[in-house]
Amino acid sequence: MASVTIINPSTGEKIDEYSRITAVEASEKVKQANTAYQEWKNTSFEQRSKLMNALGDEFENNKEMYAQLATREMGKTIGQSRKEIEKCAWISRFYAEHAEEFLSDKPVETEAQNSYVNFLPMGIVLAVMPWNFPFYQVIRFAAPAVMAGNTGILKHASNVQGCAFALEEAFRKAGFPEGVFTNLNISAGDVKGIIENPDVVAVTLTGSDAAGRSVASIAGANLKKTVMELGGSDAYLVLEDADLEEATSLATLGRLQNNGQTCIAAKRFIVLDGIYDRFLELFSKKMEAAKMGDPMDETTYYGPLARVDLREELHEQVEKSISQGARLVIGGNIPEGKGAYYPATILADVKPGMEAFDNELFGPVASVIRAMDEEHAVVLANSSQFGLGSGVLTTNIEHGEKIALQLEAGSSFVNKLVVSDPRLPFGGIKNSGYGRELSSYGIHEFVNIKSIWIE
Ligand code: NAP
Repeated sequence: MASVTIINPSTGEKIDEYSRITAVEASEKVKQANTAYQEWKNTSFEQRSKLMNALGDEFENNKEMYAQLATREMGKTIGQSRKEIEKCAWISRFYAEHAEEFLSDKPVETEAQNSYVNFLPMGIVLAVMPWNFPFYQVIRFAAPAVMAGNTGILKHASNVQGCAFALEEAFRKAGFPEGVFTNLNISAGDVKGIIENPDVVAVTLTGSDAAGRSVASIAGANLKKTVMELGGSDAYLVLEDADLEEATSLATLGRLQNNGQTCIAAKRFIVLDGIYDRFLELFSKKMEAAKMGDPMDETTYYGPLARVDLREELHEQVEKSISQGARLVIGGNIPEGKGAYYPATILADVKPGMEAFDNELFGPVASVIRAMDEEHAVVLANSSQFGLGSGVLTTNIEHGEKIALQLEAGSSFVNKLVVSDPRLPFGGIKNSGYGRELSSYGIHEFVNIKSIWIE
């Protein structure tokens, strides 16, 4: 029987091995999710909220256990893993509190005696999820979907199967009926069969655009609704009047948090000509000073990449960019020793047409790009296949807001790194995907928006 081996990216050691389930077992689990749905869809918001709040408690009460598991399996620093679990508790409670209000009937004035919009659950939602925030990404889909009365099935990234089973167990411990949230330990190749299962009504995927294209096309052929949360190469514009100490501290955090593997991380720094050299000097010092090391050590700033093959891929992208004319300022070498470590790296003088400009570099590598003026900076920012997040760093907030409004992205933050927040919608445009998660927009993605007319 096929199995998946989990490797600790910090040590290169094997942590665990999980057997894949067969296609027959997977379809049995889908059947259970459908049986659960037939009852779950009729539960009240009060019942659902009680359990969703209990899930929030579960995350909070066992934060350390979940955090250690995430760090062991994918290498993020332990402090950041704890924050991720806290965020899971926040999102669970957020939807426990607001789902009923988001999904309450919306009256519409017409010639009818009574007309309104009603929001009904749809059925089983399949989630194909990545490893970079192994708990948060799943809860971001599951909390609204389940609060809306759907049931969820998960195909998690292979390298975080322990987190996937821990999530299933967390739902069980919170008291959710069996089948409301199910982990399917299947391979990427088995996803097609699950999408084709008539009981599965919708698919949400967070991951690379390549995976998104494949899953969306299968879902499209089967006329199933999809939400796609894909990659990004977020532009951060550093304007002439920016506080450079602050800007380079933010840039360092943005590029190194989650070991450089955040979809909405600042990746392309577009810096105005007059401050370009000074920015590079300060940024290089801070990136070099950040401590790389064991992610369990509280003093570590960033840990290893999640897998050795991902490090190879990243290094090839760095080398390709250099061969295309990018200037290596710091880093750029694979260190000796165990684990999937890659040092903080800065590529300067990056231009359109280079790998580091055109594609996503998913690791601690920053691309610094020179802009001759603000208009040029906006053109460069928007010259991307992606459109997830974006940012503007300036001391003139009103001006920053004007620039932010011109950026082609799902979100634009002024003087702050883009973060997700359950109160605001989250998602992208262009090859960063479509649809929205979080807030009231997120919960409306997987419901039947039904019109009622009483004559
Ligand atoms: P990935 O390789 O696309 O994998 C994501 C998930 O899709 C995994 O569960 C993977 O399974 C599965 N998968 C891959 N190819 C598939 C296919 N052809 N058919 C069905 N399933 C498939 O991405 P990743 O390396 O885990 O994550 C990094 C990417 O995700 C980056 O591009 C990042 O920007 C993006 N991301 C986006 C967001 C967002 O909210 N927009 C958030 C986080 C990450 P296996 O693990 O078994 O291969």
